[in-house]
Amino acid sequence: MAEKNIIIIGAGLAGLSAGCFARMNGYNARIFEHHSLPGGVCTSWKRKDYVFDGCIHFLMGHRPGNAAYELYQTLGITDSCRFIDLPSYFTIMDESQGRSFAFTSDITAAFGALKSQSPGDARLLDELLAGAQALRGIDFFGLMKKPQELIGIFDKLKILWAMRSAGRYMSGKYKQRTDVYVKQFKDPWCQFVIKNLFFPQVPVWFIMMLLASLADNQLGYIYGGSLEFVKPIEKKFKGLGGEIAYKATVEEIIVRNNKAVGVRLADKSEYFADFVISAADGYSTIFNMLGGKYVDDSVNSMYKTWEMFPGAVMASYGVAKDYSDKPHADMIKLKKPFNMGGKDIDVIAVRQFDSRSGYAAPGKTGLQVECLDGDWEFWNNLVKDRRLYDAEKDRISKELLTVLEPHYPGMSSAVEVTDVATPYTTWRYTRNHKGAFEGWLPTPEAISARVKKTLPGLGNFYMAGQWVAPGGGVTPCLFSGKQAVQLVCAAEGREFN
Ligand SMILES: Cc1cc2nc3c(=O)[nH]c(=O)nc-3n(C[C@H](O)[C@H](O)[C@H](O)COP(=O)(O)OP(=O)(O)OC[C@H]3O[C@@H](n4cnc5c(N)ncnc54)[C@H](O)[C@@H]3O)c2cc1C
Repeated sequence: MAEKNIIIIGAGLAGLSAGCFARMNGYNARIFEHHSLPGGVCTSWKRKDYVFDGCIHFLMGHRPGNAAYELYQTLGITDSCRFIDLPSYFTIMDESQGRSFAFTSDITAAFGALKSQSPGDARLLDELLAGAQALRGIDFFGLMKKPQELIGIFDKLKILWAMRSAGRYMSGKYKQRTDVYVKQFKDPWCQFVIKNLFFPQVPVWFIMMLLASLADNQLGYIYGGSLEFVKPIEKKFKGLGGEIAYKATVEEIIVRNNKAVGVRLADKSEYFADFVISAADGYSTIFNMLGGKYVDDSVNSMYKTWEMFPGAVMASYGVAKDYSDKPHADMIKLKKPFNMGGKDIDVIAVRQFDSRSGYAAPGKTGLQVECLDGDWEFWNNLVKDRRLYDAEKDRISKELLTVLEPHYPGMSSAVEVTDVATPYTTWRYTRNHKGAFEGWLPTPEAISARVKKTLPGLGNFYMAGQWVAPGGGVTPCLFSGKQAVQLVCAAEGREFN
């Protein structure tokens, strides 16, 4: 039987994963990618002696013994990518009060330290800790081995059994947003620490799950930068006979008789296939490439009402100094807010990229400030006058240096290279809607929703990636690419391998 063809839009993690599984299941697979590189938002870039990372702060399941690691093996990632254990989650500090706290993998000791800082909140902290301990050892990614559409009664029973110790902590009050939950804490510092463990909008159980992974030593990052995680998947896909066209932006999905039959690129060339999988930005797929013709109330309401991740501003510095005595990641509540992109910013995150992790030459350090509150409208308007846009980036990088200097003494006079990326940069390279770097925020509503990988009324078409996997993330996006191919196989009555 002649092989059928699948066109995949986007060579981010979801698209590459879909490509590999398509080839492993006997389909011809061709990926069209807007950028000149694979990986989408999962990327890193080199400037002089430094690699600046734009993505993986923590990779879940980086050690064997769980479904995520098995997937990394299947996709060839473990062949050449080196994982490093996260030394600690991060250190959080308040400049005004001179308080700081480190989230280490010994979560009992860490919570003990926090309790001694905020004794009035000991009972609530014990509750959070108990939840995190109960979620330890659970293979959450086991739930993603199949798309929800194909999960049957026996799968459900298996899931319930695997999650039996977690049930209590994934329901009731632990389903509420963390920023709402922490209002009952007495000490504002303790509130601040807990709600900033991840985005404050996520449910409390999500925080517990992160803490459980930290305690299980299942959070890692990538030696040499996030692009090193991507390259082996691209290699695997090509080795399986897949084709990728770069600088190939899809403008339209060609539909005949309500079936997706191919794509039209920006240069007007057309390509045809039996199936189309879009692993690109959700909004532009649904409302631009398909002209908004295949939507229903639930799709419309999702795109109108759900919260997206904000845009990120990342200011990276190559510094000819060693800061290995400092934490690898900090969150700093500033004494004096500074203005960035029209907003007063009072909390910044700082990542350190050192030579031991393959990011910088010996004795040198990459430091990156992240402000995860970038205003899309501001940057998108400003870029219309390139001089103003560049001047604002320049001002930010200079002002931030004065903010960082007390934390990294001697830094200002040792900077060798500076790089500032804005939400517009994210959009330019990846086309994610309004520069939202990780798709939908995993609010209680979004994370518990069943987002379909198909669109109403459209045949032979599937979606993968962070816009159909609320909360995004490396591993869920890789799984979503696999799931799209599982759905293609199911539609054809083929067994999935
Ligand atoms: C700053 C940052 C930190 C993160 N930290 C973590 C972390 O610590 N841990 C974690 O697990 N996850 C993290 N993530 C999230 C994770 O990296 C993403 O959710 C995931 O990589 C998204 O993959 P994707 O394939 O769904 O989407 P994308 O990466 O957006 O890929 C989509 C691809 O489609 C292409 N495309 C778009 N439109 C078109 C078109 N019209 N034609 C052709 N191609 C098109 C784009 O160029 C892109 O390559 C982080 C992300 C960022 C940005």
